Amino acid sequence: MSKSIKIYLDNAGATPIDPTVFQVIQKVLKENFANPGSIHDLGVNSKKILEENRAIIARILGAHSDEIIFTSGATEANNLAIMGVLSKSFFDIQHIVTTNIEHSSVLETCRYLENLPVGGRKIEVTYVPVEENGIVDPKKIKKALKPNTVLVSVMYANNEIGTIEPIEEIAKEIRHYNKINSTKIIFHTDAVQAINYLPIKVEKLGIDLLSFNAGKIYGPKGIGILYVKRNTPIISIIHGGAQEFGLRAGTENLVGVVGLTEALKITEKIKEKEVKRLIKLRDYFIIKLSKSLFDIKINGDLKKRLPNNVNITIPKIPSDLLVLELSARGIYVSEKSACKSGDKAGSYVILALCSGNNKICKKGEGSLRFSLGRETSKADLDYVIKSLNEILQKLKRWYN
Ligand code: PLP
Repeated sequence: MSKSIKIYLDNAGATPIDPTVFQVIQKVLKENFANPGSIHDLGVNSKKILEENRAIIARILGAHSDEIIFTSGATEANNLAIMGVLSKSFFDIQHIVTTNIEHSSVLETCRYLENLPVGGRKIEVTYVPVEENGIVDPKKIKKALKPNTVLVSVMYANNEIGTIEPIEEIAKEIRHYNKINSTKIIFHTDAVQAINYLPIKVEKLGIDLLSFNAGKIYGPKGIGILYVKRNTPIISIIHGGAQEFGLRAGTENLVGVVGLTEALKITEKIKEKEVKRLIKLRDYFIIKLSKSLFDIKINGDLKKRLPNNVNITIPKIPSDLLVLELSARGIYVSEKSACKSGDKAGSYVILALCSGNNKICKKGEGSLRFSLGRETSKADLDYVIKSLNEILQKLKRWYN
């Protein structure tokens, strides 16, 4: 088997840089090095570029320029959303509602707040469990709301199993609750995995805060955004400068901002066509996998999932071994071992699907995530199926 074949199916982990984005970045890196905070001509020019890019991003999201806050990525944007809103609220016991499949940058921030030393304000978190298909029921979010709920954070699409969460319905439930209870619960969504494929007009989504980064949309890593709807009560969590309307101190990453803007423009331009192409490829791959020689289980809802995500469990075979065998054949995917509760290496997302009669959960089994991208072709997927069959024939002798 040739090691030189390169089939990259880990686009949910990181996307390659788009060639146009690369060109734009290079120019700014070389020419626009001046600090946007400096008042001389070069600084003023950097500031102008920064604000022009902010305005383009705002237009794409259907937002105002002053609602776009640049951060170092989505982890920081999620931290700012949660800690920034909580720091501005004045309940003795503040309450957050989230789900059990959020990205660790949301879940661990919530756990950190829950465990803050006694003496500070107390924070309670409700982790609403998703259904067996990986989708949260908006009614269960509504049921979790309380008079002291400050923030709801539900991701737009999951990074492991690609399930698309009902953001608009949840927003409606929160609005309704706010209206009848005179509360002001803020709604945040982590849209990192959604930006490439789903509608992103913030008004239509009905959210107050939305995070994403450039590293998943064929842009550079280390730059992200928190959209903050006007009049949302929030304060900075990074101190030492008045940049980003006082919400994020530190010299602006102009190179990153320009790269993010270009990447977002391209993503929006090709979205419709790319979504159609990828859905066809994804469903072709799922059918082929289902008809192959080995037993598989597809994790997450079959239809309400990102066009580029296929996540499977192959009984009895450790998923890390499969990733390495595939890698040796020039195929790059990612894995999570499943259902080892208490084991940090296990996937809490796959574990979250393992309730009731769901039988995907057996100790030692894991999941493989194939996340397709702009470069993926049908021939690539045929080669993956062929390789998987060969690998499984070999491994089954050891594991049966
Ligand atoms: N949220 C989701 C859903 C993600 O998939 C990721 C990255 O994988 C992040 C947040 C964190 O993004 P960043 O690496 O920009 O901090």
